[in-house]
Amino acid sequence: MFISDTIAAVATGMQASGIGIIRISGPDAFAIACNIFRAGVNKRRLDKLISHHVYYGFIFDGEIMLDEILLVPFQAPKSYTAEDTVELNCHGGVLVMKRILQLLVKQGARIAEPGEFTKRAFLNGRIDLSEAESVMDVIESKNQLALDNSLKQLTGSLYEKIRELREEILNEIAFIEAALDDPEHISLEGYPEQILTRSEKILSELHRLTDSFNNGRILKEGIKTVILGRPNVGKSSLLNSLSGNEKAIVTEIPGTTRDIIEEHILLDGLSLIVYDTAGIRKATDPVEKIGVGRARDHAMQADLILFMIDSSVPLSDNDREIFSFIEGRKAIILLNKSDLPSVVSEEDISIHNKSSFPVISVSLMNGEGLKKLSGTIREMFFSGEIGFNDELMITNERHLSLLNRAVTSVEHVRSSAENGLPEDFLSIDLMDAYDLLGMIIGEKIEDDLVDMIFSRFCVGK
Ligand code: GDP
Repeated sequence: MFISDTIAAVATGMQASGIGIIRISGPDAFAIACNIFRAGVNKRRLDKLISHHVYYGFIFDGEIMLDEILLVPFQAPKSYTAEDTVELNCHGGVLVMKRILQLLVKQGARIAEPGEFTKRAFLNGRIDLSEAESVMDVIESKNQLALDNSLKQLTGSLYEKIRELREEILNEIAFIEAALDDPEHISLEGYPEQILTRSEKILSELHRLTDSFNNGRILKEGIKTVILGRPNVGKSSLLNSLSGNEKAIVTEIPGTTRDIIEEHILLDGLSLIVYDTAGIRKATDPVEKIGVGRARDHAMQADLILFMIDSSVPLSDNDREIFSFIEGRKAIILLNKSDLPSVVSEEDISIHNKSSFPVISVSLMNGEGLKKLSGTIREMFFSGEIGFNDELMITNERHLSLLNRAVTSVEHVRSSAENGLPEDFLSIDLMDAYDLLGMIIGEKIEDDLVDMIFSRFCVGK
């Protein structure tokens, strides 16, 4: 693909900061840089730039000096976009950066579209599509685990996995086509049994990837967590203590100001979105009824329920109500106030704990049990230290939808083989699966789709 124009954008974001980096990429990047740059204290003109060197100097618009900068040229293909690229490290004032950008446009560059630098890296074959998408995930990652996963995708492990699967599929297609072409030498006898086994294996690998999506979403956005318990058990104290560890962002959901507060919390590198609700109980007051209804709705949609019990007083009817509500969901039972003499023990609640949820003794007074809580959550959602295991997670909706379609195609292969349909039927569905998987990594993909993906990027990246 030949790209003829030169693009420029602020890579660090249009906001006041210590340094702002303006990136120029394309065939004229070096020429433009030479036109506007004067090197060193003597402000010398340069007619050529040596790649991967740092130059100190000034930006000039004619006779007017705009800024004192550091300039770094990257000659193609050893640059982010694989094109000639120049980075200008300017002072990070919004006005300064705007004026330099205007100057670059005057010199023939075009302001880059969002994501266009990364798109060029892809179009120039430097990175595959899933890597390009994970660049964006890296930029957007809100917590360490999500960042680890994006970095893993960025280094191409999704690409590797998809490539392996495509190779297996291509092998089958090639075999069928060859056999149909040359039946005298290549026999298809017994092949339906073979393809059955192989498609089962491919399906199970595809399912592993699609199943990881929910965890991937949780990892990226946070575990939707609802704290339930009757009044005075310590729900607010738990929220305060969790948000006290790390900075919490409190947002009030519009229209529910009275009853639901949402807090984003980082707990040992895990993102939780904690909803502080009115609680689930029999309400008489009409306003309270609405609050309880909303709490119930939230709890129904939650990824995790933290059910808090006050272990210093006997169980109440409300506790028993909540026990039956949480059955069959994901929950952790917290026996709070472990610093006080205990009236309710783990054995006492075991008859109500029909789904065998983990039970943790905690005290918000002295912090006991909180570490165990984060460990248990980790265990429940990521089977241990996800940051350290090799499981690759799908976090991108587009990838998920393509994988699901590939699953359908391979299921067709399986049923065609079971029903003894002619081999060319198998081949058509295998080819579909091959193309669909190819679209994840940007092979055989329509330009429109590429544009759509890259327009999600921020400008300058
Ligand atoms: P909520 O109504 O469920 O939100 O409960 P709060 O968080 O407001 O706590 C109710 C009362 O219990 C407060 O006076 C807290 O100080 C107290 N409390 C909370 N956790 C503990 C604990 O672990 N130990 C003791 N002794 N008191 C606690």
